[in-house]
Amino acid sequence: MLYRSTRGNSEPVTAAGAIRLGIAPDGGLFVPAEEVFVNPGELALMAGMSYQQRAVRILQMFLTDFTPGEIGDCVEGAYGAAKFDVPEVAPLEKLDGHLYVLELWHGPTCAFKDMALQLLPRLLPRAAGKVGEDREIAILVATSGDTGTAALEGFRDVPGTRIIVFFPARGVSEVQRLQMVTQEGGNVHVVAVDGNFDQTQSGVKAIFTDPAVIEAIDRQGYRFSSANSINWGRLVPQVVYYFSAYADLLARGEIRPGETVNFVVPTGNFGNILAAYYARRMGLPVGCLVCASNRNNVLTDFIRTGTYDRTREFYRTISPSMDILISSNLERLLYDVTGGDAVRVRGWMEELQANGHYRVDGETLEKIQSVFWSDFAGDPATVETIRRVYRKYGYLMDTHTAVGMYVYERYLEATGDTRKTVLVSTASPFKFNQSVAAAILGEEAVRGKGEFELLEILSRVTGMPVPGGLKDLDKKPVRHTLIVAPGEMKRVVQELLTR
Ligand SMILES: *Cc1c(COP(=O)(O)O)cnc(C)c1O
Repeated sequence: MLYRSTRGNSEPVTAAGAIRLGIAPDGGLFVPAEEVFVNPGELALMAGMSYQQRAVRILQMFLTDFTPGEIGDCVEGAYGAAKFDVPEVAPLEKLDGHLYVLELWHGPTCAFKDMALQLLPRLLPRAAGKVGEDREIAILVATSGDTGTAALEGFRDVPGTRIIVFFPARGVSEVQRLQMVTQEGGNVHVVAVDGNFDQTQSGVKAIFTDPAVIEAIDRQGYRFSSANSINWGRLVPQVVYYFSAYADLLARGEIRPGETVNFVVPTGNFGNILAAYYARRMGLPVGCLVCASNRNNVLTDFIRTGTYDRTREFYRTISPSMDILISSNLERLLYDVTGGDAVRVRGWMEELQANGHYRVDGETLEKIQSVFWSDFAGDPATVETIRRVYRKYGYLMDTHTAVGMYVYERYLEATGDTRKTVLVSTASPFKFNQSVAAAILGEEAVRGKGEFELLEILSRVTGMPVPGGLKDLDKKPVRHTLIVAPGEMKRVVQELLTR
């Protein structure tokens, strides 16, 4: 199976090539050049399989230049008991007669990024080997929270890799900061930047593309790579859990074979929901894909009107992992619904780059609307939803999942579509504990309390244990104390890679 660029000006590459490169040389994203189908018989078989076995089945269809043994090793390492705190990996909870919650946060950092960032670090060195790369891989990440912690956990002690994570010294939560500065692993470096997230991100981008730095680290035996969410190696692991959720519904007799199921996905960069779309294209019986945004509702507007316009105010919300105005993975959807029209896709992306907006034609919009429905939730609605769901079902949701729940309720009102629906839950309620505790206990109960106190309070009130990845972080030794000015990031990378 080969992968081609959505912008049409790069040579097709193997899966290993796509994973090694991350982004195509012409600036496009790699997409599979052939269609892949899963027949109903195979779905029935998956019902009897473990998550790991389901993952091997799906990954084999896309990563055809990896041997079954290699894929099996990667999957065992990624989703074993050492990493996930439940054997189901991605368990499905039933809320009521037609609503289920798919929990994607049982990995080491308690958010759905672990689903992909446990697997990609294992695929990447093998991919590099297949394309004849003999240097070690140096991963650089600029993070405002979730991605950095998940990437550190994913790459820690993976042979043939080093990872350097930069975070804005005052731009992450206390839990997230401690998750990073206490990170263990012989190949990990964490550096605080005395600046904001934009400066941190620009710093990393400048290093990636600086020929002098690239040459210097090349002499030291390294080559840069990215763990960015546009890498095919981050998208393909996400296709698995849509099949797994369906297989679980079949196995429990909640649906009949062939019955269509809707998915609701809290969305930022369009990566998670795009994986659901690919699963649907592969023959998974999926009805509607409900795209839930927060107040940064650029995708809601796009799906409703066909105009994508990033020239708008950016809001900081209580669902920060969805605070995004450029949803990069949308480019892959546009490529697919236009039947692979790279010229049109390139045109839209150039317009976005130049003017901050583009408008798709009516036929393209119709195709998108035949699968997707979208709405958004502001912060007050999000908080109110956490409280209401907790009272009604005794189920505690994080802020991102609550955005999804609120939008699902709007979908039900608007369409009356009562098909079985799976709400994709992207973070543990303990991860964004301040907003969650305030929602169920009231503002007064949380005022003046630190994040670690709130973890204990939430645990006591709900009877749920504090997840291992967040527990006792304030008691772990701090291992990373480096803090640098934005202008020093380049020098620091070269220094860290000489040791
Ligand atoms: C990254 C993230 C999202 C958004 O996922 P996309 O793939 O970017 O759409 C939603 N919720 C949480 C908790 C996340 O970490």
